[in-house]
Amino acid sequence: MRLILLGPPGAGKGTQASAIVKRYNIPHISTGDIFRLNIKENTPLGKEVKSYLDAGILVPDELVVDIVKDRLKKSDCANGFILDGYPRTINQAEVLDKELAKMGIELDAVINIFLDVQLLIERAVGRRLCKNCGATYHIKFHPPKQDGICDICGRELYQRDDDKEETVKKRIEVYLTQTKPLIEYYKDKDILVNIDGAQSIEDTFNEIINALEK
Ligand code: ADP
Ligand code: ADP
Ligand code: ZN
Repeated sequence: MRLILLGPPGAGKGTQASAIVKRYNIPHISTGDIFRLNIKENTPLGKEVKSYLDAGILVPDELVVDIVKDRLKKSDCANGFILDGYPRTINQAEVLDKELAKMGIELDAVINIFLDVQLLIERAVGRRLCKNCGATYHIKFHPPKQDGICDICGRELYQRDDDKEETVKKRIEVYLTQTKPLIEYYKDKDILVNIDGAQSIEDTFNEIINALEK
């Protein structure tokens, strides 16, 4: 299964990706996770991208596209992959198309998760992540069993720096101007699947699976 997860910040892409990768046993490729890991480890790439993430704006295409191209060539992508947070611009999508054509493969579906702006803000601002395993929680909608502690590995949860309300609003604005045009782009290719992100995590997942397996 070769998939893209499209949608505004806070729509539930990462949450759904974690469930989808288990079902199909494919790697989860999140450009946001790759950047955050590099920032945490203070690599040259991390130093270069930090100010963009902090400001809630997109990292320039030239710092993103090669990372994804290289990642797709790794052997664990042979049976498929799920791209989460890439592409985010028409140019990134075109680069991806060319690369997939070179590799002789095609996308199976682009899953577009949509949600109202008010809920997006509430979801992103209440998001908490595990420092260790990356599991995602929400203080109200998906709380851990014990406050501030990961259910899976018992480590501490944290809030992303860019999940402050002002930065979330900026990211939504960036999504609307730079990323939303991708909906039309993939609709024209006949591989777009629209999913209502306002449902529960389970119902959203079931709708995605039904659409993929029908
Ligand atoms: P994205 O990757 O699109 O930014 P996440 O998957 O990280 O979004 O989800 C954003 C926040 O919303 C997280 O705190 C997550 O636990 C919560 N969340 C995700 N899906 C749902 C859902 N269907 N209902 C309620 N909360 C959700
Ligand atoms: P969310 O799903 O909540 O929007 P991500 O973790 O996908 O968050 O992205 C966090 C930040 O990382 C973005 O605001 C942007 O600065 C950067 N980023 C991630 N993916 C890309 C991409 N494909 N192109 C440019 N910037 C990106
Ligand atoms: Zn954990």
